[in-house]
Amino acid sequence: MADTGKTAYKRVMLKISGEALMGNTAFGLHPPTVQRIAKEVKTVHDMGVEICMVIGGGNIFRGLQGSAQGMERTTADYMGMLATVMNALAMQSALEELNIHTRVISAITMNEVAEPYIRRRAVRHLEKKRVCIFAAGTGNPYFTTDTAATLRANEMNCEAIFKGTKVDGVYDKDPAKHADAKRYDRVSYDEVLQKHLGVMDASAIALARDNHLPIVVFSLDEPGGFRGILAGTGTSTVVHD
Ligand code: UDP
Repeated sequence: MADTGKTAYKRVMLKISGEALMGNTAFGLHPPTVQRIAKEVKTVHDMGVEICMVIGGGNIFRGLQGSAQGMERTTADYMGMLATVMNALAMQSALEELNIHTRVISAITMNEVAEPYIRRRAVRHLEKKRVCIFAAGTGNPYFTTDTAATLRANEMNCEAIFKGTKVDGVYDKDPAKHADAKRYDRVSYDEVLQKHLGVMDASAIALARDNHLPIVVFSLDEPGGFRGILAGTGTSTVVHD
């Protein structure tokens, strides 16, 4: 199918992990990679789609790792949430270089750096075609940014969550290790949970399932991948009822 520049989607959530911003480096931010992903976002923005984003923090800090090394868990989780704010600011900068108006909206109040999260205000930004990057996760320890993405996608009435990964969907086993791994075109939330398919953590999957919010897993490494999925031309796995 050819990309006609049209899509059925009006408002979507793009979830990417912090590690997606590392490029081939071992830690932190790789600005050319951030710029590349910003360009992918622009191609979808150009279609007129309203875009929410949640970016993880795993390229900088993960609470679980900190607590495994003896840190108090909630403190470590707050550090993880702060890491997502840095990533959000980097993405905002890259998007604004491309002349896309962007707001970073933080679940933890830090008025000098980002807007506080006010649902109606965020909706208004989306209506004005500003990309909304939701930072600091849910604002609560013991959660992940997958859950934050699902929560905000529900609150913003997004039609689906697009989870950009290194592979073009969900496989029955790790495609990097097994040549015979099979990709699912569609898979149910329950099957993802039962088979531990590792799309997102269990709380995020359950929250999506209970609100009938589809999760579309696709490759962000593929140039034009995000737009292709929205235009119906790319390869992905849809997690559904
Ligand atoms: N985090 C949290 N509450 C949230 C979201 C994130 O405590 O609502 C913390 C948690 O410590 C997590 C870290 O922030 O490990 C970074 O987020 P995540 O691991 O989801 O990032 P990703 O794996 O997507 O890069």
